[in-house]
Amino acid sequence: AVSKGILHEVRWYDESLKVNKERSLALEQHLFKSLERNEMYVVYQPQYSSISKEDIIGYEALLRWNNDELGSIGPDEFIPIAEAVDYINVLGRFVIEESMKFIKRRKDSGDMISVSINASYKELLQNDYVSYLREKIETYDLSVTQVHIEITETTISEYIDIVREKLDELVACGFEVHMDDFGTGYSSLYQLGKMPIQVLKIDKSFVWAIETDEKMEALTKLIIDLAHRMNMWIIAEGVETMKQYEMLSDMGCDYYQGYLLSKPLDFSKETNQST
Ligand code: C2E
Ligand code: MG
Ligand code: MG
Ligand code: MG
Repeated sequence: AVSKGILHEVRWYDESLKVNKERSLALEQHLFKSLERNEMYVVYQPQYSSISKEDIIGYEALLRWNNDELGSIGPDEFIPIAEAVDYINVLGRFVIEESMKFIKRRKDSGDMISVSINASYKELLQNDYVSYLREKIETYDLSVTQVHIEITETTISEYIDIVREKLDELVACGFEVHMDDFGTGYSSLYQLGKMPIQVLKIDKSFVWAIETDEKMEALTKLIIDLAHRMNMWIIAEGVETMKQYEMLSDMGCDYYQGYLLSKPLDFSKETNQST
């Protein structure tokens, strides 16, 4: 009975690997045509300094993909594929350009906003990443302070030296650098201490745990205090409940992003539908 069970599991594992492989291949093939077919678009999730909806401090640019055959595919699924097949630079530049156009439209209507753009490590490793950003800022007549770059801990740990150089370059140009999903990656506190980072984003897995888990509550408080002692601001992501908001606020959290306040918004639609 035992060996039958194992065999069954092995077969199931094989099958699911095959299905995954087929899906990745299909995604990969459609991915390369996604931009020319206008299947990609960017949505923007507001970030707030308080529960009061007037206090928007910026937006995070989040990529969306809608394919006729495959339906809508989340970035958690297609970004890793785009990285693996070296298509992330093309997508990244699309997000940069779209974000700048969005900031420019707002500027023209008298509203100075800032947008955070997620950068994959492969983008950061490109020689002309920073100069591309600067060129676009000039083209759209914006200020560097209106564009923030989000990087993840994974980016840092694997390519620490070159990443630090790039971040130094970004900061020297006046860009704000945000560390995304903080607390879930593998980077050490030593590395954090060596990085030129202005904002820590606490990962949503912490935010979702603080109501029920005292250890996670203690860790979250510690991360907020740590950030402040290092002269960094804190953004909590994935805030979904009033209780989470109140607890974070009591802990001294600076900024909030999450469905409680707003889902990512599609500004290309007149009604600003959430996505
Ligand atoms: P991230 O940068 O940590 O983005 C936050 C994710 O959490 C987004 O998911 C956002 O929609 C979601 N989120 C925000 N508030 C809530 C909430 O209250 N509840 C829940 N359940 N979710 C919330 P999304 O848009 O699916 O993006 C997932 C990840 O994909 C991003 O995580 C980021 O790592 C990556 N990604 C998205 N767009 C880009 C991009 O343009 N470039 C790169 N390199 N990566 C991107
Ligand atoms: Mg992000
Ligand atoms: Mg995040
Ligand atoms: Mg995340």
